[in-house]
This record gives sequence, structure tokens and C-alpha cells, in this order.
Amino acid sequence: RMAPKVAVVTGANKGIGFQIVKDLCRQFKGDVFLTARDNSRGQAAVQMLEKEGLHPKYHQLDISDHSSIVRLKDFLQNTYGGLDVLVNNAGILYESELQTEKGPDTKPSTDVPFSEVAERTCQINFFANLEVSEVLLPILRPHARVCNVSSARHEKALNEISQHWKDKLFSPDIEMKELKDIMDSYVKAAKQNKHLEEGFSGFSYGMAKLAMNVMTAIHQREVDENGGEDILINACAPGFVATDLTQHKGHLTVEEGAATPVSLCLLAPNVKGPRGMFLTKEMMSKQ
Ligand code: NDP
Repeated sequence: RMAPKVAVVTGANKGIGFQIVKDLCRQFKGDVFLTARDNSRGQAAVQMLEKEGLHPKYHQLDISDHSSIVRLKDFLQNTYGGLDVLVNNAGILYESELQTEKGPDTKPSTDVPFSEVAERTCQINFFANLEVSEVLLPILRPHARVCNVSSARHEKALNEISQHWKDKLFSPDIEMKELKDIMDSYVKAAKQNKHLEEGFSGFSYGMAKLAMNVMTAIHQREVDENGGEDILINACAPGFVATDLTQHKGHLTVEEGAATPVSLCLLAPNVKGPRGMFLTKEMMSKQ
């Protein structure tokens, strides 16, 4: 008897991740894991879906805790013998970096210094998501799909960084070590308030999401080089969605925000692409 297929969504106790789990419960042919760093929030979320007649499974996952990631990997390996869908959705956004369509928030939040915002934002939105992938990509089965939930806001950072960093980040043969070094340099510069003079962006959320997009392309290349059979790894932007992260300022519903990530999870077997790409809703509809 073949083990069922299995999907994992990170940061899924609320917001877009919660909706991705809901959609996958209805559309993915296999078990769907709602994961959360906090067990009580995670289990409350599972109960909400149960009330709607859906049956997600649950596993704890704090993406900033290496042992938590390894526990999930061991569980998946032992129970399912692999992994078929991974959604790297967990992320944070400091209030001081929340941008509305009308531009930066008028009320500057000064309680958290930029050095700390940049360090924590890069740690979760880039380094922790990278670590989840580094632990889980080796157990992906043929035809697996990975979706990294990034943001269109990476463009602001891209517009602000120097040509030197652009050349490095978009070099077709950039290695993961170089990407990590660049992000370490960024955090270090931010702590010394030298990030602007070193040609980095003052928008750490955008920097972290930009790095996530580069990570996505590198992971696709690595998986292909290691003989991955029809494994597709993509990043996407959900759009500006009303969740706690945006203080509900986004104009899209979670249903609309989940649509692009979910369609990347459900890409049909053996489609040519997208592969290693960053996609928006508009780009998906042209596929
Ligand atoms: P929410 O704040 O509603 O949800 C974020 C989720 O991530 C929560 O479940 C949170 O858990 C979880 N999380 C945070 N840190 C960790 C961690 N260390 N380990 C595990 N889970 C963690 O945000 P959204 O749903 O809006 O955002 C989801 C993703 O979409 C993020 O990556 C965000 O950057 C991205 N995005 C969102 C946009 C929007 O307009 N909303 C626009 C562009 C991108 P907890 O409840 O425990 O804090």
C-alpha cells in the first residue's frame, strides 16, 4: 500500500497560511498539515476547519527553531516516507515597515530600532525559511511542489540597492553561501547603521523577500542538478491582503491572497513551468 501524499504549510494558524490549508484540504489529494509554532493557536485553527467539515492534520513547527524543523522532518520521513508539497508561508512584518498603497504609514513607530527590525525580519523571513527548505527539500518526492510566499514589496528593496548587489544577486550561478553572506553583511551593516552607505535598502522586509526570491531560483537549480524528478520550486506574491500582518489594511481577502500560492502547489504533473520563478496573480493568469 502506497503512503498517501502529504502537504505542509508553515505559519498556518491564521491569515493566508490558514486559508492555504483550507484550500488544500479541498483540492489536494492527500494529507494536509497545518503547522504552527504555538500548539494552542495551531490546534484552535484545526478545530475551526473541523467545524467546516475539513480534516487537516497538525504538527508543531517553529521555523526559527532548528530542532522543531528536524522533528517535523523525522515525523514526515517516518510516517509518509517523504513530502509532496511545502508552503513556506510563515513571516513577519514590523509596524514601522508596513506600507499602505498610499505610501509609508503616517504614524512612524519608533519603539523598535531599525537594527533590531532588520535583524529579526531577515532572520525569520529569510534565514528561518531557508533552514526549513534545507531540512525538508532532501525528502521531497518526484512531482513535489514548493511555494515560497514572498512579496511584491521586494521591488522597493530591489530599486534601492546598488548595482554591485544587483549584479551579485542576479548572477545566474550565485551559490547559497554567497546569498547567505550578502544577507549577513546586510544585517551587520544595519546594526551599525551603515546599510545605506553600503548600497543596501533601508526596507528590511523587502530585502528579506528579495533574498527569498533568489533562494527560490537557487533551490530549483540545486534540485535539478541533483536529479530531482519534476520538482517545481517557486516564489509568489499573494497581493495586499487583509490580515493581522497588514493590520487588515490590505484590500484582498485571504481567499484571494491564497489563490496564487495554492495554484503553485497544485501545478499539474510534468508541466514545463513555472520553475524557480517569482510570480504574481497577474503572471499566473497568463501561464
Ligand atoms: P499573519 O500575520 O496573519 O500570519 C503569519 C503567520 O506566520 C502566523 O501564523 C504566525 O504565527 C506565523 N509565524 C511567524 N513567525 C513564525 C515562526 N517563527 N514559526 C512559525 N510560524 C511563524 O500574516 P499573513 O497571513 O498576512 O502573511 C503570510 C505570509 O504572506 C508572510 O510570509 C507575509 O510576508 C506574506 N505576505 C503577506 C501580504 C499581505 O498583504 N498580508 C503581502 C505579501 C506577502 P503566530 O500566530 O504564532 O504569530
